[in-house]
Amino acid sequence: MNTLVIVGTGLAGYNLAKEFRKLDAERPLLIITQDDGRNYSKPMLSTGFTKGKAADELAMNSVEQMREQLKADIRTGVAVNAIDRVARTLQVEGEIIPYGDLVLALGADVFRPALGGDAGDRVYSINDLQDYARFREVMADKKKVVIIGGGLIGCEFANDLSNGGISVDVVEPVGRVLPALLPERASEAVANGLASLGVKLHFGHSVKGVWQDGDGVSVELSNGERIAGDVVLSAIGLRPRTQLALVAGLKAERGIVVDRFLRTSDANIYAIGDAAEVEGKVLLYVLPLMAAARALAKTLAGQPTAVMYPAMPVQVKTPVCPVVVSPVLPGTPGAWEVEAEGNDVKAVFKSPDGQTLGFALTGAYAGSSAIKMELTRLLPPILA
Ligand SMILES: Cc1cc2nc3c(=O)[nH]c(=O)nc-3n(C[C@H](O)[C@H](O)[C@H](O)COP(=O)(O)OP(=O)(O)OC[C@H]3O[C@@H](n4cnc5c(N)ncnc54)[C@H](O)[C@@H]3O)c2cc1C
Repeated sequence: MNTLVIVGTGLAGYNLAKEFRKLDAERPLLIITQDDGRNYSKPMLSTGFTKGKAADELAMNSVEQMREQLKADIRTGVAVNAIDRVARTLQVEGEIIPYGDLVLALGADVFRPALGGDAGDRVYSINDLQDYARFREVMADKKKVVIIGGGLIGCEFANDLSNGGISVDVVEPVGRVLPALLPERASEAVANGLASLGVKLHFGHSVKGVWQDGDGVSVELSNGERIAGDVVLSAIGLRPRTQLALVAGLKAERGIVVDRFLRTSDANIYAIGDAAEVEGKVLLYVLPLMAAARALAKTLAGQPTAVMYPAMPVQVKTPVCPVVVSPVLPGTPGAWEVEAEGNDVKAVFKSPDGQTLGFALTGAYAGSSAIKMELTRLLPPILA
C-alpha cells in the first residue's frame, strides 16, 4: 500500500500536495479533511470586512478544482478519529483507510476561555473559512463587536471591522496591544492607530463573563466594568492540534514533535504547519509552513531534505499603523534600541555583544522595504 495520505486541506496540506506533485505525478495521493476542502488563504480572513468579501469570494478554488489540479482523491467532511500505527491505517467514521506515508497537517484550534454568563452562544472565533462565513452572516444586521484579546489576530480584526463600519471594543488583560510581539513604544503606536479609528481599548482586565442584554450582550470585566455589544469575537490564541497524535503514541509537546525532516517519532508519519513543533519551534505563520512543504515534498519524493528557516519577519495587517516584526523570545539577553516619532517606530533588539536578534517597525518604517530588508539581513536564521 503506497498511498500518501495527507490529513488537512489548509495552507500546509495543500501546499505540500502542490510541491509533491511537482516532483511525483504518479504516486496515489489521498487528502482527507473535516472541512469542505475549498482552497483559501487564511490570512485573508482578517481583511475581509475592509474588502467587503463574502466567504465564497475568499475561496480561491473548489474542491473539484483541487482534485483535478493535484491529481488527488480528496475526501471532505471526514474527521480522522484514530491512527493505527501497526496496521498503518486511519480510522474515520465507519471506515478504515490504509496509508503508506501519513502527513498530519491538522492546524491549530482556537483557545476558548472559560467564561461565566448566559450568552456563550454569542462568542465567536474565526479560524477558518466556515467560521468566517458564520460570523459574516451574524454580522449582517449588527454594528458592535467586543473583541477579547489584543494580540495579532485581535488587532487585525479590530482594524478590519472598523474599516467595515463596525464599532469595536478590545479587551486585553496585559496593559498594551501585541504584548508578545512588540516592545512598548511600538505597541503604543499601534494602539494610537486603532484609537484613531474609534476602537476602544480596555487594558489591564480580563473578561469574566458574557451576559444576554436585550438583543445584544453585556461583557463583564474582572474589575466589574461592563461593555455593551452585539456579539463577542474571541481572539486569545491558538493551540496546535496534537490530540490525534498523542492518542496514537506519537511524541507531542506544544505541537506534534518532528525533526528537521518533519518526521514524527514514527518513521512513516510526518507533521507540518500549525500542528507541528519543529525542533522545539511552533511558528503559526505561512512562511515557515511553505518552507516545510518544499522540504517535505522532496523527502517524500525520495530526496531526504532537512527544512531550513531563514529569519522570517511577520506583517501585522493593521493598515492604520502597519507593523513588521521579527519577535524576540521572552528572557533573551539584550535590549531594544528605539527611534520613534509619532506612530513611526523603529526598534531593534540587540544582544549584549551588539548582534541584532530582532526588530519591530511600525508606521512609515514598516512601509519601507529597504529598512525591512536591511534589518532582516542582520538577523540569525531561525533554523540554520
Ligand atoms: C485570522 C488569521 C489571520 C492570519 N494572518 C496571517 C498572516 O497575515 N501572515 C501569516 O504568516 N500567518 C497568518 N495567520 C496564520 C496562518 O494563516 C496559519 O499559520 C496557516 O494558515 C495554518 O495552516 P495549516 O494548514 O497548518 O492549518 P489550517 O488551515 O487550520 O488547516 C488544518 C486542516 O486540518 C483539518 N483537520 C484538523 N483535524 C482533522 C481531523 N481530525 N480529521 C480531518 N481533518 C482535520 C482541518 O479541516 C483543516 O483542513 C493568520 C491566522 C488567522 C486565524
